[in-house]
Amino acid sequence: RELYGVREWGAGFFGVSDSGELQVTAKPGSFEHAVSIPEVIEGIQARGLDMPVLLRIENILDTQISLLNDNFRSAIESLDYKGSYLGAYPIKVNQQQQVVEAVTRHGKAYHHGLEAGSKAELIAAMGMLRDTEAVLVCNGYKDEEFIDLGLHATQLGFKCIMVIEMPGELPTIISRSKELGIKPNLGVRVKLSSQANGLWAESGGDRSIFGLNAAQIIEVIDTLKDAEMLDCLQLLHYHLGSQIPNIREIRNAVAEASRVYAGLTHEGAGMRYLDLGGGLAVDYDGTQTNFMSSRNYTTDEYCVDVVEGVMTVLDEQGVEHPTIITESGRALVAYYSMLLFNVLESARFEVEPLPDALPEETNIHIRHIFETLQTLNLRNIQECFNDALYYRDEIRQAFSQGNMSFRERALGDRVFWETVNRIALLAKDLPSLPHELEGITQALSDIYYCNFSVFQSLPDAWAIGQLFPVMPVHRLEERPTREGLLADITCDCDGKIDRFIDSHGVKRTMPLHELKDSEEYYLGAFLVGAYQETLGDLHNLLGDTNVVTIRIREGGGFDFVGELEGDTVEDILSYVEYDTRMLFNRFRETAENAVREGRITPVQRKETLQAYKNGLQGYTYFER
Ligand code: PLP
Repeated sequence: RELYGVREWGAGFFGVSDSGELQVTAKPGSFEHAVSIPEVIEGIQARGLDMPVLLRIENILDTQISLLNDNFRSAIESLDYKGSYLGAYPIKVNQQQQVVEAVTRHGKAYHHGLEAGSKAELIAAMGMLRDTEAVLVCNGYKDEEFIDLGLHATQLGFKCIMVIEMPGELPTIISRSKELGIKPNLGVRVKLSSQANGLWAESGGDRSIFGLNAAQIIEVIDTLKDAEMLDCLQLLHYHLGSQIPNIREIRNAVAEASRVYAGLTHEGAGMRYLDLGGGLAVDYDGTQTNFMSSRNYTTDEYCVDVVEGVMTVLDEQGVEHPTIITESGRALVAYYSMLLFNVLESARFEVEPLPDALPEETNIHIRHIFETLQTLNLRNIQECFNDALYYRDEIRQAFSQGNMSFRERALGDRVFWETVNRIALLAKDLPSLPHELEGITQALSDIYYCNFSVFQSLPDAWAIGQLFPVMPVHRLEERPTREGLLADITCDCDGKIDRFIDSHGVKRTMPLHELKDSEEYYLGAFLVGAYQETLGDLHNLLGDTNVVTIRIREGGGFDFVGELEGDTVEDILSYVEYDTRMLFNRFRETAENAVREGRITPVQRKETLQAYKNGLQGYTYFER
């Protein structure tokens, strides 16, 4: 029950029922009306949708939006801050229409706006946002078309703010604004010297790709002054990077940015907004530390520290308190999606029992490992491991030089693995594992083959070693008896999850239950709502998974409120430019040739073509 750290990483949204099922609630910490995930899976399958499925819990997103806005509101109230707070959800974090729709729907009560980083995102935002009290922040490299769209949005009454990211954007903004006769709301992105640690932190600091340094900002001011548009400059923006685990780094950046804000005000700009970008982290591993996959602060602390940090500097500088904007994405959407998948089979680590003695003529290196095994004890564990590795290499060499039969090589492998296995069993009694033995549990673990693609559904786990909580969603009342890692169905050696969350950092295997013939075994990867959906790729032509959205009812139970069928094989082939009609016609010709040559009958041709057609229309994942 406690094995998978649900209480630590679940932020109160996840718990385990008495019957050992994983439960989810939209009210953190309150499980009275929690929903059983296996029950949701049953409902999904009854509706004819296959695993893997991306499950979204709509009201978890609502809870997170409220949490951020309410925490900022109470920090503002308790500190007597004179400005206000506005959120801007960055579309890049999860661009799916359903997600942006849910953000704008629930966010309306807080005037939670959107952030767009490209033309396509701005076009989506202009169509989705209905609330003219909310901000629409435009970041990213802007061409004339992007700028025109931003100006039209402003004319329509949106609080659209175009943030100057590169010096070259300003002349175009000025000339387009004069030509269209629309006064823009402008912001400027500053490169701070404060830097943060973290997997995504390169976007902050002096060397960051985007943003202007102090001299360039002064040039912007002078250019705007010359164009009599300095009042248009209303916002200062920075983005330190995503997933900032350490609150100290956040506070340092707020202090530095507030000083720049004050400087811009003193220069005569029409400053009203201070936009801190993203960075509010998610505690993926539940350690509440400044590890990369965690954060050493709460949302409440973040809000208080931000408001206090801005106030301290601006009060000292005699500058009016601005509206604080944050572009939190990860923290809003991570919890709301989970990937559910079934296990197809497992490869167990098992060594056939060895005989009591080896035949006389057995190769000398094999006999050496066998002797090592006989003398193994807690004190010589490291020495035996070194010997076993040495003789294993000798055996391999003897085989490749033709001095050993294949059958003998197989015996050598058995003796080696049994030795390693016994070493691993003994090592469990050691207070700490010698460095060389650290990988041993992984080498001896089972492999559970799972119905999903890491590249499609958890790209950050593959690309940057991001940790996500992964665990079974049922049988949690039963002690797992196996240790394993997870392989996906891409047949790629990188297509695996072999880093799992642990209170001490990272583990290379996870506890898993024995598979049963009579029952599917379901696992979930959690906190996958941010960045994973659109960063995923089509490796091995495995496409988008089915997506199901549920809403948990106040008084118990849940409703299916949305479903999107995943890609079919036909969809995927068309993404990589195949004409599937042409493919079918060509295949039909091949089948007709086979009839002509007498290899199949016309009826067999019909069956083959039907199978091909079904394949084209089927799901790209393993179907039972
Ligand atoms: N704003 C900008 C400009 C970004 O580049 C990003 C993503 O890195 C975000 C906001 C979202 O950051 P986060 O997901 O950490 O909230």
